[in-house]
Amino acid sequence: MIVLSVFPGLAYVLLGWLHDIHLKAIIWYLGVLVVSFYGYLIHKQYRTQSLSSTQLRVWYRHLSVFYYVFSLLWLVIFLLFIAEDEYKLHYIAIFTEIGAAVVASVLLVPDKRLFKPTVIILMLPLVIYFAQIGDWYGYVLSVFACVFTWVLIYAAASSHKLLIQTNFQANHDFLTGLKNRYYFIGYLQTLITTLQRSHTWSYLLLIDLDYFKTINDSLGHDIGDHLLQEVSNRIDTQKDHDSLLARLGGDEFVVVGMEYKDKAECRKQAESMANNILKTLKESYKVDLHKLYISASIGVSLIDGKSDDASRLIKEADIAMYEAKDRGRDGVIVFDDEMQKRVEHNLELEQQLYFAVENNELTLNYQPQMDKDEKIIGVEALARWNNKKLGAISPTDFIPIAEKTGSIIEIGCFIMETAFRTLSEWEKLGVSVDQFSINVSMRQFFYYDFVKDVFALCDKYLTEETRKKVIFEVTESIIAEDVDKVVNIMEQIKSLGIRFSMDDFGTGYSSLSYLKRLPIDEIKIDRSFVSELNEETTDEVMVRSILYMAEHFNLKVVAEGVETEEQLTILRNRNCGLYQGYYYSAPLSYDDFVRFYKRQ
Ligand code: C2E
Ligand code: CA
Ligand code: CA
Repeated sequence: MIVLSVFPGLAYVLLGWLHDIHLKAIIWYLGVLVVSFYGYLIHKQYRTQSLSSTQLRVWYRHLSVFYYVFSLLWLVIFLLFIAEDEYKLHYIAIFTEIGAAVVASVLLVPDKRLFKPTVIILMLPLVIYFAQIGDWYGYVLSVFACVFTWVLIYAAASSHKLLIQTNFQANHDFLTGLKNRYYFIGYLQTLITTLQRSHTWSYLLLIDLDYFKTINDSLGHDIGDHLLQEVSNRIDTQKDHDSLLARLGGDEFVVVGMEYKDKAECRKQAESMANNILKTLKESYKVDLHKLYISASIGVSLIDGKSDDASRLIKEADIAMYEAKDRGRDGVIVFDDEMQKRVEHNLELEQQLYFAVENNELTLNYQPQMDKDEKIIGVEALARWNNKKLGAISPTDFIPIAEKTGSIIEIGCFIMETAFRTLSEWEKLGVSVDQFSINVSMRQFFYYDFVKDVFALCDKYLTEETRKKVIFEVTESIIAEDVDKVVNIMEQIKSLGIRFSMDDFGTGYSSLSYLKRLPIDEIKIDRSFVSELNEETTDEVMVRSILYMAEHFNLKVVAEGVETEEQLTILRNRNCGLYQGYYYSAPLSYDDFVRFYKRQ
């Protein structure tokens, strides 16, 4: 708009000079320059500073003033030229006014409050000018000018409507009508800048419904959609008026709080808000004929001026939310320094783990399995990781991380190769066991080349005979996948002679139906049942039932974590055949196991 005024404006100065109104034209042009400069400052303020909502309101007022004054300036040049006798100047004045009105109606489309009055300010004098000619053609032109004004406003209004619609769709979630992820990210980024300047605090709540998928899958998407709408209504009624509520997608919602002067206050408000939301979400829902109950896990992250990055804040809230899920769902967790440290530690582990195989940091330990006559019947290979920087790390810590990042594929393959090599070497040394167990994690099991790798390694290290000694220990989590697929993979591997054992039995999905369907040969009673074992506990009942079931299905049973004579006696009396645990031996290094074996 400024460019369209400053340069063509010079032509009016020239015309003024030619027609002896140069002083007025120059004063007018100076006015254009001054207002343009004001406009430039407003433009710059928006570009270089991010404004809070109050500042934005003030800024908008300045902008409106700028546009009105600018339109009035074009009205002034019209009046200036029209006042002259020279009819050529009248033509120019008329065209100027029409041109200005067209420009205003096009450029100001985004703002209805601006384009309507501006177009009227510019066109009304023209209507009057034509009418006061006093002849019939003057009246006709006056009516034409009215119609033209209406057309301009109508066209601008239509474009405006379309613009608002597109803008709405880009920023809103279709199902709930809430703001969407795109809007939320922009909002958060602006908020961070505001907090940076004002040194205040705010918070972010990440709300994820518990078991929503189950409802969606079992009752259908229509019910799921209704439920999400109701959930969004309920959160909306809980949140403060000036907070933002958005749906990130699926069953994930976020609330961004207001500004607080101090951190403790902010945290208190965030927690109470989260708890209130949780409470209303847990009240029952009536959708169609169904009465539904749902809870949520809420992660909270506090925002201050130092948090420079929106995506990091979302990640923090996400970590806190998953922590809430881990602690049994239906709860609120605030992301704090301790969680931060743990995240950093895990990140460090992740990075180091990628090079563990390459740097030769992984080894295997071997824990003997004994039978009733205290004879070494088998052995379980257990991974050990010793990192230069982080020291010795337990497999309970690094195996889940390797699973998550996918490095378990490489690590698992290395473990399998090492174990196979050990088995074949021991056979030659006369250290002969009946069964050699290797843990196989879920992701490794479902890796598309797993079967191929097993075949190749068998070929390389094992004979027909030694293969029959290998047992792969899997956990009950694998049946979360399609059981047919599991059976298919197992059958292919069993064709080599390798057997399967169900590890940590009793802690997972334990169901009789899968015991019947999966081609497993052995189960391992989880350590947690064995450790509490005495004649009075319910664990005794549990162990007895497992043994009874195993007998029925013709499965071997290994009791894990046997530490005391008492546990051993109970297991023996209940007819459990194999024992593994500190009572006999902790997991041993390669050489120590050989010595242990020979001593026997
Ligand atoms: P798991 O397969 O249940 O292994 C048994 C765990 O119990 C081992 O812990 C072993 O050291 C420990 N243990 C054995 N006897 C006793 C006892 O009498 N008392 C107590 N308190 N503990 C006993 P570890 O070696 O720390 O391994 C932990 C878990 O890490 C394993 O549980 C397994 O799930 C996983 N893991 C270990 N090595 C591998 C591996 O090579 N591959 C895969 N995928 N996972 C592995
Ligand atoms: Ca195991
Ligand atoms: Ca186990």
